[in-house]
Order: sequence, then C-alpha cells, then structure tokens
Amino acid sequence: MKDVLQALHHRLNYYKELGIKHIPKVKKDIMKKNSAHETLEDIRTDIGDCTRCKLHAERTHIVFGEGNPKAKLMFIGEGPGHDEDITGRPFVGRAGQLLTKIIEAMKLKRSDVYIANIVKCRPQNNRAPEADEVAICEGFLHRQIAVIKPKVIVCLGSVAAQNLLKTEKKISALRGNWISLKETPVMPTYHPAFLLRNPNMKKAVWEDMKKVMEFFKKEDNKK
Ligand code: SF4
Repeated sequence: MKDVLQALHHRLNYYKELGIKHIPKVKKDIMKKNSAHETLEDIRTDIGDCTRCKLHAERTHIVFGEGNPKAKLMFIGEGPGHDEDITGRPFVGRAGQLLTKIIEAMKLKRSDVYIANIVKCRPQNNRAPEADEVAICEGFLHRQIAVIKPKVIVCLGSVAAQNLLKTEKKISALRGNWISLKETPVMPTYHPAFLLRNPNMKKAVWEDMKKVMEFFKKEDNKK
C-alpha cells in the first residue's frame, strides 16, 4: 500500500511540474485484455489505427515494438524518432544502430531481444512525450511486458526510466542500479542518442550491460 501511495505521489508531482491540472482519463479498452492468454498480435489489433492521444495527429506509422516475443531481455526507450516514424520500427536510426552494437557486444542478436518505447507515436521535433500522452499509451506497453515476461528490462534514458519506474530521479542517479518493476528487475542506463552526443559515457553503459550479462550468467548457473 505504501508503494502504491508513493507511486501516486510521484505521479501527481510529475503532472504538477508539467503544469497539468487534470489527470488524463485512460480509456478502459487499453487495459481490458491483460489476460493470461493475450498475445502481442491481440494488443496490436486493439491499438488499431489509434487516435487515443494527440500524438496520432502527426505520426506516419505507429511503432509497436519488435523482436522475440519470448525475449529474456527487453529494451524500452522513450518514443519513436524520425526514422522510426517513417519505417514503423523501433531504434533504426543512428541511435538504434548504436543500440544494435550494444546488443551484439552482449553476444546477442537484435532478434533475441524485444525493443519497444513508452509511447508508440513520434512526438514532433523529438520532444519528450507529455504526461497525458504517456498516461494514455503506457497501458499498451505494460500489456506487452505482461505477454513477453522478460527476465530483465533495460530502460534507455531518463524519460523511459522515469515513466516506467514512476520516479522523478534523474537517469544519472538511476543508472547502474537494479530497480524492481513488480517482479521484473530493471536496469536503467543512458539512451544511445545521449551516447552519440557524449561518447565518453559509453563506458558507463557498458558497465550497466555487464551487470545484465552477469544476471543472466547467474540464472544459467542455477539450472
Ligand atoms: S502514442 Fe499510443 S495512445 Fe497515442 S495515438 Fe499513438 S498508439 Fe495511440
């Protein structure tokens, strides 16, 4: 109960900082099918040609997410950029290419993991998604997580980490530390776009990814 109240408190402060006076009403159908038998295809079908939040107005494609539907490792970013909006695929621009390199350095393939974002339509000019947009869209992501059941989630950047973990802490304070999302361990780290601007921070991300690799190694040793 205390955790729930703390999360609510963080969320209300977050809205307040953004100057939002009314909590957006989440349409019931976003949450309705969170059942044991749901598939990713069911969720995509529910999303349809979504107009539930204002981000729909200027998008080219909905970026649902892609990868292994039974992935042990899931990466979550903040939202599609220009290249993702054009292609309908997550992390395909320069930042995405760097993410692919990070995944491969972990001795995995992109097709081994699942990649998604907090919101599925591109915020114009690469602004961060607004709280009302996140509140409406994030239910779909939580349904995807419930279907995939990853063993570990890596959050890429402040926006993804703050929204997923319902915290106001900065990514510099969060990164490198395991945090639980319900039962799932989450490792926040810097966004690859940040690394393109600050290549000296690649080492920190690699340290975080080594912790993820170590987690899987321990899991394998238990078998
Ligand atoms: S961001 Fe999500 S809720 Fe908003 S229009 Fe796109 S799919 Fe719908």
